[in-house]
Amino acid sequence: MVEAGSPEHPLRIAIIGAGPAGFYAAAALLKAEGLKIEVDMYDRLPTPFGLVRAGVAPDHQKDKSVTRAYDKSARHPHFRFCGNIEYGKDVNLDELRRFYHQIIFATGTQSDRALGIPGEDLIGSHSATDFVAWYNGHPDYANLEFDLSCERVAVVGLGNVALDVARILCKSHEELSRTDIADHALRALQNSRVREVYILGRRGPAQAAFTPPEISEIGELTDTDVLVRPKEAYLDAASRAALEANPDRNAEKNVEVIQVYAQRPPQGRQRQLHIRFLLTPLEIIGSANGRTEAIRLARNELYLAQDNSVQVRQTQEEEVLPVGLVFRSVGYRGLGLPELPFDERRGVIQNEAGRIVDDRGQVLTGLYAAGWIKRGPSGVIGTNKVDAKETVALMIEDIRAGRYLSPAQPTAAAATGFLEALAPRSVSYADWAEIDAEETRRGEVADRPRVKFTRLGEFLDVLSD
Ligand code: NAP
Repeated sequence: MVEAGSPEHPLRIAIIGAGPAGFYAAAALLKAEGLKIEVDMYDRLPTPFGLVRAGVAPDHQKDKSVTRAYDKSARHPHFRFCGNIEYGKDVNLDELRRFYHQIIFATGTQSDRALGIPGEDLIGSHSATDFVAWYNGHPDYANLEFDLSCERVAVVGLGNVALDVARILCKSHEELSRTDIADHALRALQNSRVREVYILGRRGPAQAAFTPPEISEIGELTDTDVLVRPKEAYLDAASRAALEANPDRNAEKNVEVIQVYAQRPPQGRQRQLHIRFLLTPLEIIGSANGRTEAIRLARNELYLAQDNSVQVRQTQEEEVLPVGLVFRSVGYRGLGLPELPFDERRGVIQNEAGRIVDDRGQVLTGLYAAGWIKRGPSGVIGTNKVDAKETVALMIEDIRAGRYLSPAQPTAAAATGFLEALAPRSVSYADWAEIDAEETRRGEVADRPRVKFTRLGEFLDVLSD
């Protein structure tokens, strides 16, 4: 076997997925010392950046500035973006093995977790991740419809996604129209009749998954009163004991912020955002025509488990909250990819620190995972940098030990020929730069960061122009 990585025989690496984990992996690979590495990054969308484009809230533009670093990698002469090409549909594992020495899967978690309660399929009961993808203009979700004609909405879960959804529902048209929210969502939210949003957590403020800056930001909503019941904001004995045993600055700060909200009197603003704790959804109740009408909740109490974690048990007490919409926001979930071993329980590709392994724990040479599909949907964008670096370190170790695939056609030209023969038109980084420029130009006209295209045809139209 020719030793790959020399200037004459570059190592050819495919990254599947153009989100943060994929880009951090690319950056680390392109910096590898003493090895010539060429990276082809595939994505099923014509746009790069994954959840930075389709997940990060439109009113969080600062968080999107990480794309500047990704852009730097993308402009490296040994990097190519191959957008609009889907793994498992347009290209399969054997085909990739023909062109690459190593393949990294960084496809993220494309589904969401269910609550597993009756009524979850009623009209008006949605996954928060669908709503997020819709308002961010993800082409697969652009045709969804959310009926915002009701006055009360429940968002189940105490994570940052629940806060994003609640914030977008509570912001004024004026505020949203300065963001890059998808046009269809801007219009629908302008006509929204939602007045009361309930965030429902099953545990207490000290166990919330949201982070201090995000829960603090909620208090700055201009048109919305944030309401917390003092009884639910109270730090119970179990939580206090757990925090003493395992001090957690984030949890302490979250509790502090929630307790400040609990003391604020309502100001009679246009909307109310209620943050409720210690409530487990039991059932979504529907009308005769199958529409969401209410959510039935059990009141919980907290107790300290043997491992010092704070858990809940349900009491006999129940509550019925009339709502016309329910968003479940209880976490993303990874989906299995064709021909790769998948851990259904955890929703991740089976791997050991990034090396993909089969059911017997045997390493599958040349195959790696990074990001949420490797470790599950947790952490902030930057967490994926550490994660991708861990995978890349193992890849480099494997290269130096001669453990990689033996592609029959390990050249950029061969991969280009293959891509050109595919039915969908592959979108390059130069193509994306054109799309980006056009979206930004449309944004300048409207005094917005960008006006997004949301349909596949629209992207391709820009390129054919
Ligand atoms: P998450 O942080 O894992 O939060 C999930 C929430 O759902 C938790 O409060 C959890 O409560 C609750 N939950 C789970 N199963 C439940 C059930 N059966 N019934 C009721 N509640 C249930 O998930 P996420 O909000 O989707 O966020 C995913 C990741 O993206 C997180 O790391 C998040 O920080 C990150 N993110 C960050 C930002 C930002 O930085 N601005 C924005 C969005 C997302 P328990 O704790 O009781 O299980």
